[in-house]
Amino acid sequence: MKNDFNRILEGISKSKIREFFDLVIGAEDVISLGVGEPDFATPWTIREEAIYALERGRTTYTSNQGLLSLREAISEYMRSRFDCAYDPKEEILITNGVSEGVDIVLRAMLNPGDEVIVPEPMYVCYGPLIKMTGATQVTIDTSGTGFVPSAAAIEAAITPKTKGLVLCYPNNPTGMSIPESELRAIADVVKRHDIWVISDEIYAELSYGVPFVSIASFEGMKENTVLLSGFSKSFAMTGWRVGYICAPESIVSRACKIHQYSALCTSIISQIAAEEALQNSLSEVSKMRWSYQQRRNLFCQALNGIGLKVTPPDGAIYCFVDIRAIGLSSHDFAVQLLQQYKVAVVPGTAFGECGEGFIRCCFATEISELKEAISRISDFVESVRGGVKKVGKRA
Ligand code: PLP
Repeated sequence: MKNDFNRILEGISKSKIREFFDLVIGAEDVISLGVGEPDFATPWTIREEAIYALERGRTTYTSNQGLLSLREAISEYMRSRFDCAYDPKEEILITNGVSEGVDIVLRAMLNPGDEVIVPEPMYVCYGPLIKMTGATQVTIDTSGTGFVPSAAAIEAAITPKTKGLVLCYPNNPTGMSIPESELRAIADVVKRHDIWVISDEIYAELSYGVPFVSIASFEGMKENTVLLSGFSKSFAMTGWRVGYICAPESIVSRACKIHQYSALCTSIISQIAAEEALQNSLSEVSKMRWSYQQRRNLFCQALNGIGLKVTPPDGAIYCFVDIRAIGLSSHDFAVQLLQQYKVAVVPGTAFGECGEGFIRCCFATEISELKEAISRISDFVESVRGGVKKVGKRA
């Protein structure tokens, strides 16, 4: 009896990103394009504000929903930057990263037997968290539509059991965003069938070229949208663990009930730092965005130059590289590249079966490292194409 653990968990495997990275641990001279993390330290003014908070003894719990002043800052930011209006008192909840936001929103929303549509390839947390509620993930394969979920495919997947749809744009792992015309068509489907959109907009600030448009900003969509965002990527604050949910009160109050019992609140020091980020550090975000964009351009150009097809991503910090011409599975490509040439990437299949034939490379890495990684990938590709492993410095 004691060892009769939660049975749903038996059907859930460990994140394939992590599983793959067990191979990297302890390895020397490895260039990692694997972890999806900004390579900047958090901007100094934000760190300084946190230090100052500690000096002033601001070390207590906050309200379960999070500091009102931070919620007000988020409300103003969402209004001025993305044209989305949320009441800081009732429609915003501060979470421990977007990760906790996804978990408690799904738990607040879903009953066993419900269905949630998830376009794949997709960031890894949705499927397992949907499963843990007893609901079912219904997958849409976006590989035939340039990794952009189409309104038609979403509508075709809707059944009487459909409760929601997950969107993530710019996407992890593909970097693709959703063109506004398609996003509007998706919004029409969502409204027509009166389902929820769980919109993960964590990479909104890291959009290159086309400005980011939130689905929540469309006429009549606020009532159907749970918008998730956070500070990890845009402000290089992964370790601070601050995210937020913007949604109708019906969702926020229920999610807050779970948050209250399982987390109580997000660290006050991190919340104070996040407030400083929104109020005084948006210019730092622009600088980091510019830097990522330069590296994106360099990396895509170089990969295309060695015969690996890659569409420059619209946003985020990943290239989803087409390796089908090489004749190896995504998994074998990643393992052999790591073992023989010491470059870590993530197989596309970590993000769903339809990621086969692709690898995810994070380009938030120093330019000199990126150049060395490209040179190693080039040698690897050449060795596979030539049918012999080039014996050399890397192996
Ligand atoms: N959502 C997406 C799409 C992500 O890529 C990540 C992290 O990689 C997260 C959520 C988790 O972010 P957080 O650090 O805010 O929990």
